[in-house]
Amino acid sequence: MSAEMSSSLKKTEATGNLFKSAMSRHAKKILAALKKIYPDAGCSLSFRSPLELLVATILSAQCTDVQVNKVTPKLFRQFRSAEDYAAVPLEQLEEAIRTTGFFHNKAKNIQNACRKIISTFGGQVPDTMESLVSLPGVGRKTANVVLSNGFGRNEGFVVDTHVFRLSHRLGLSEGNTPEKVEQELMVLFPQTDWGYLSHALILHGRQFCKARKPLCGGCPLTKVCPKGGVDNTLDPE
Ligand code: SF4
Repeated sequence: MSAEMSSSLKKTEATGNLFKSAMSRHAKKILAALKKIYPDAGCSLSFRSPLELLVATILSAQCTDVQVNKVTPKLFRQFRSAEDYAAVPLEQLEEAIRTTGFFHNKAKNIQNACRKIISTFGGQVPDTMESLVSLPGVGRKTANVVLSNGFGRNEGFVVDTHVFRLSHRLGLSEGNTPEKVEQELMVLFPQTDWGYLSHALILHGRQFCKARKPLCGGCPLTKVCPKGGVDNTLDPE
């Protein structure tokens, strides 16, 4: 390698390191600010066991947590084990979850997931990513919710529509898929904060950084946020 090439490579490496340390400082600032604004951010679904959490998380797709929490108290009294969900006629389960929307698919996924929990995992919701994503209808997002909130294990980030949007606006990720965003966030933040951060970003997305009209004027992160992809004319305050 010529001296010129070697010096150019060193410069590229130095620029990369500078970028990494600037990103790390930026991430630290965002994390510190979120901890001040949302010190108690946590799961807003009601549940008492990993099975209840798994079912509630499946129900929360395309539905608000508030609506899911209205449906689950009666549902969880009716269905207490994976066996209960596996044995019930599908129409009865559909009726019980109808108001959460997409109830045909959700009922099928809950029942099939419970059948596999019985056949492969001894009737207990498994506690590893690999096992959880092997359940019908359970993707990485649902698995992360269950692992983090049901078992206290941060194996990744829950990248829902809010986390995906905020990661771009806050300049934390440029990934164009939830999987890529998750990988970038996992590099930027300490593992102990992954679960917390998912909840805090979701809360912030609901309260300030709304999809169509982010409230940048009143947002407590405005000084540290590069507002990636935000049209400033949206929020003239
Ligand atoms: S300043 Fe605007 S874009 Fe940035 S987090 Fe707040 S609401 Fe979202």
